[in-house]
Amino acid sequence: MASNRRAFLTATATVTATVTATATATAVGVLAAVSAPAAAGTAPDTAAAALDELLAGNRRYAAGRPRRPRDIARHRRRLAAGQHPFAVVLGCIDSRVVPELVFDQGLGDLLCIRTAGQVLDEAVLGSIQYGVAELRVPLVLVLGHERCGAVAATLDHLRSGTPVPGHLELLVAEIAPAARRTRALPGDWAEHTVRAHTAWVRDAIRADSAFAAASVVAARFDLDSGLVSLLP
Ligand SMILES: [Zn+2]
Repeated sequence: MASNRRAFLTATATVTATVTATATATAVGVLAAVSAPAAAGTAPDTAAAALDELLAGNRRYAAGRPRRPRDIARHRRRLAAGQHPFAVVLGCIDSRVVPELVFDQGLGDLLCIRTAGQVLDEAVLGSIQYGVAELRVPLVLVLGHERCGAVAATLDHLRSGTPVPGHLELLVAEIAPAARRTRALPGDWAEHTVRAHTAWVRDAIRADSAFAAASVVAARFDLDSGLVSLLP
C-alpha cells in the first residue's frame, strides 16, 4: 500500500514536473519575442548586481546628481522592440516616492508596482510573477517610506475605532497587523509600523514558491535625506 502510494506520488510528481516544464517552456517561447532584451549584456543579470545598481542610483539621487534620463528618445526607440527590466519594485503610491527617480533609473529599467502602503493583493502578486517568471527579473525590492499616509490612516483607525470608508478598508486591513504588533514598542509607532509592515510584505513574497527564482528584499525610503536603507 505504502509503496503503491509512493509510486503514485512519484508518477504524479513526474507528470506535474513535465507539465510545468512544458508550460514554462511554452510561456517563455511565446514571450521571448515580446521580452527579448533590448540591451542584452548591459543590465544587471543577478540579484546582487541589481541591488548594487539600485543603491548606487539612490546615492546619486540623494546627492542631487542623477544621471537619468539621458537620451530618452533614443532609449524609447531601442526599447520599442522589447523590455528587459532588472528589478521589480513594489512601492507606495506616494507622489514623493517615485521608484525611477529614487533609484535614478530610466525607461525600461524597473518594473514598478505601486499601491498605497505597498499592500499586496492578487493583482500585485500576479504582476510580480509576470516580472519574475516571464521577464526573468532577478530582484524584487519592497519599498516602504517615512510618513506613509496609508500607515497614518491605519493608526488613526486603530486609535479611534471609527469605520474605514469604502475601498480604503483593504489597505487598513493589510497594514493593521503590523501596527498592532508594534503598538506597545517605545518610540514612533508610525515608523515601527512602516518597518514591520514592509518586512512582512517581503516575507510574504519570499514564502511564495511562485517567486522562488528571485531574491526579495525590503527597504525604507527616508523623505528627508532621500536615502534608501535595507531593512533587516
Ligand atoms: Zn505611503
